[in-house]
Order: sequence, then structure tokens, then C-alpha cells
Amino acid sequence: MFNRIRWQLVGWNVLVLSVILFLLGSGVYLLFRYSLYRGVDETLVLRGERLIRGEAFRELLRLTGTTLRPVPNQITPSVAPVIPLSPVEAEGLFYLLLDSQGRVLANPQSVALDYLPDLNAVAVMSVTRADLRTVNVGSGNKVRLYTTRLGDAARPIVILQVGHPLAPQETALRGLLILLVSGGLTGVFLSAVGGFFLAERALVPIRNAFRRQHEFVADASHELRTPLTLIRANTEMLTRHPELPVAANLDCLNDVLRETDHLNRLVNDLLTLARADAGADVLEWEQVALDQLCQEASRQFAPLAAAHNVTLEVNTPSPCVLRGDPGRLRQLLLILLDNAIKYNRPGGQATLSLRVERGQAILTVSDTGMGIAPEHLPHLFERFYRVDKARSREMGGVGLGLSIAHWIVTAHRGRIQVSSVPDQGSIFTIFLPIQ
Ligand code: ADP
Repeated sequence: MFNRIRWQLVGWNVLVLSVILFLLGSGVYLLFRYSLYRGVDETLVLRGERLIRGEAFRELLRLTGTTLRPVPNQITPSVAPVIPLSPVEAEGLFYLLLDSQGRVLANPQSVALDYLPDLNAVAVMSVTRADLRTVNVGSGNKVRLYTTRLGDAARPIVILQVGHPLAPQETALRGLLILLVSGGLTGVFLSAVGGFFLAERALVPIRNAFRRQHEFVADASHELRTPLTLIRANTEMLTRHPELPVAANLDCLNDVLRETDHLNRLVNDLLTLARADAGADVLEWEQVALDQLCQEASRQFAPLAAAHNVTLEVNTPSPCVLRGDPGRLRQLLLILLDNAIKYNRPGGQATLSLRVERGQAILTVSDTGMGIAPEHLPHLFERFYRVDKARSREMGGVGLGLSIAHWIVTAHRGRIQVSSVPDQGSIFTIFLPIQ
């Protein structure tokens, strides 16, 4: 399953990058082409206008006007006037002088006249005074052509076509295209390779979460199976002797009751954690008097403490009000006090104290019980983690209390820490911000 997700991530990565590169590349290419052609157009218009308006051109027309004759598709040096248009030649341009019918009057640069002059451009001279277009001149060669006229639209005296071969621009554009395509393909390839490794890294936390979820389900099923097996065994025993009075089966019935309580607690804890995971368990925020909550909790636990022969002390010297969920904060105190009494020794002590320091409430639950070995401390808040499974079960524990405590504290934007010395006792400290 993870392999498929990995390839899907790589695929999406490549697809998104390809689209981005394509759009960027097209943008760069079109912009480059536009600026190249614009440069050519500007030169053509500038030169064309300068020529046709230039003194030399007018003088020449005046002098040679009578001798200008159309030439059939070739240059006749004696007929074609040699116009001193050095700026035009210097820039790799060529020009053709045409009469109003588009017949060539002069072709000083000896341009091949297979595709030129462009008669479509000549035709529009009766409508407009200037025209710019790209003309195909065979073998894939293109020429940018500027056409303008001297004289009015109805009776043009002479038409000038100035052309600029686009070969250098086309070569530059082809080079850019090759660069963009090869760069883009390399980029896509590298992104596929990089994406493959990144996807693996991105999947690590998902894999871990999946594994944890798997273990959680396995642990939960296991925990549910034990009480169910015991309930079944006890009820089977009861059905074997239906004639016996209830009093004779009291042990069995008590076992069933105890296991049902255990199941009940387990299912409640599982539900709390499932809601916490889904983010559905939104806390009900309100002002909470934490000192009062501590007092109530200690009162509630007095009978249990007495039953375990543990002295329960509560220290709340000053009032402490913070924003939080009273139900969840009570649950937090119950979990910690329950543990402080359950894992204590007869004649031991459990203390709950609350103080306010630097804008936070600091709750400590300490006991003089069995303590926890250092190697267990990092795992204590994991689900179903129990130092002594048998003892926990015997005390009615399911191994989810501290996970829930951790979630409650985190949901209140606080933190919880534990320190413990085996055979001396443990101290759980909770820091809660007072908003
Ligand atoms: P449980 O339902 O087993 O009490 P918890 O999540 O509350 O589950 O606690 C996890 C384990 O941490 C317990 O099984 C116990 O081994 C250990 N533990 C918790 N609190 C204490 C404590 N005050 N003293 C010693 N061990 C503790």
C-alpha cells in the first residue's frame, strides 16, 4: 500500500512540476520571441521611414524617375538605380522598390525574387500606408517585411519593401527552445528522482502512525478479550449448576461484575482516545477554579486512600482560576490521584499541590510508592504501556490513564513531566498556562 502511495506522490510531483515548467518555459519563449520580433520591427519601420523620407531618396527619385522601369524577376544594373542606402545594408536589411502594381523597379541587394515582392502587402497599400508581416521565402526561411509607399493611397508613386531575414532570430529561438526543453526534461527527471526519496521521507511518519494504530487495535482487542473470556467462563459455570441458589455463586457473580466494570472503563477510555485522535472531542472551555477542583478530587478519593491505608494530602494555598474544560481537568486529577494511591505502599502518602508561578498553574501529584525505573519513564505516556501489567490489572487499570492525562494536558496547551525514584516514589508535574 505504501509503495503505491509513494509512486502516486512521485507521479503528482512530476505532473505538477511539468505543468509549472511548461507554463514558465512557454512564457519565457513567447516573451523572448516577442522582444526579438519587436526589435526587428522597430528597426524595419525606422529604416523604412528614414529611407522613404530621406533627402537622398527623394532626390534620386526625381533624377531617375523617368528611367525607372519594371524589371522582370532579375536585376538589370544599368536600369536599377543605385540608391546610397548604406545604413540599410549595414544592418543586414534589403529593400525592393516597386511600382503601384508591385513590379520591381529596383533590387539593389540582388534578392532572389521567387517569393518577393509580397504582393499581398502591396495590395493593402491602397488602404493603409504601412504594413508589417512575416513572409515565407522557401526552404523554411522567413523574412519580416515592412511595406510603405510614397504618394497617396489612390496613386502611389512608388512602394518600398524593406525586409529583414529572420534566420538569426529563428536560430536564437531554436536554441532557446532546445535549452528550455532539455532543461525542463532534466528538471522533471531530477524531480522524479528527488520526489522518490522525498516521498519515502514523507511516508515515515505515516508509516509510524499506521504501525502505532495497528498496535493500538491489537492491544485493545487483547485487552477486551481477557474480561470477555472471564465473563464467559463465570457465566458458563453458573449455567452448569442452575439449581444452586445465588448465594452459592456469589464469587462468580462478583467476578462477572468486576470484569464488566473493567470492560466499561476500557471502552470509555478507548472512546476518549478515539475522539481525541479524530479531533472531535472539542474541549468545552470555561473559567475553572482549579484549587476547588483539587479539593473536590481529594474529597472524592478519601475513601479509596483510606482503603489502601494511604494518607492523602492536598495543598492549594492560593486560588487559581484558568480557562479550561472542567470535566477533562477533573478527569486528569482523578487519573493521577488514582495512580498515586494504587501504586503506593500501605502507610504511604499521596500529595496533591497547586501553586501559581509566572503565569502558569503548577500541579504536582507525588507519592511515596513503588516508583518507576528510569527505563520505563520515556514510555509511560504511551497507550497500554504498563510497568507491571499484573499489578495494574489487579488494581483495575487498563494502561490508558496516562495517555489520556497527556492528551488533556496537551489540549490545554500545557505539558506534563514525571520524575521517579524506584522504591521511594514518583512526582507528576503539570504546567498549565493561565490565559
Ligand atoms: P493503569 O491503568 O495501568 O494505571 P496508566 O496509564 O495510568 O495505566 O499508567 C501506566 C503505568 O504507569 C501503570 O501501569 C504503572 O505501571 C505506571 N504508573 C503510573 N503511575 C504510577 C505511580 N504513581 N507510581 C508508580 N507507577 C505508576
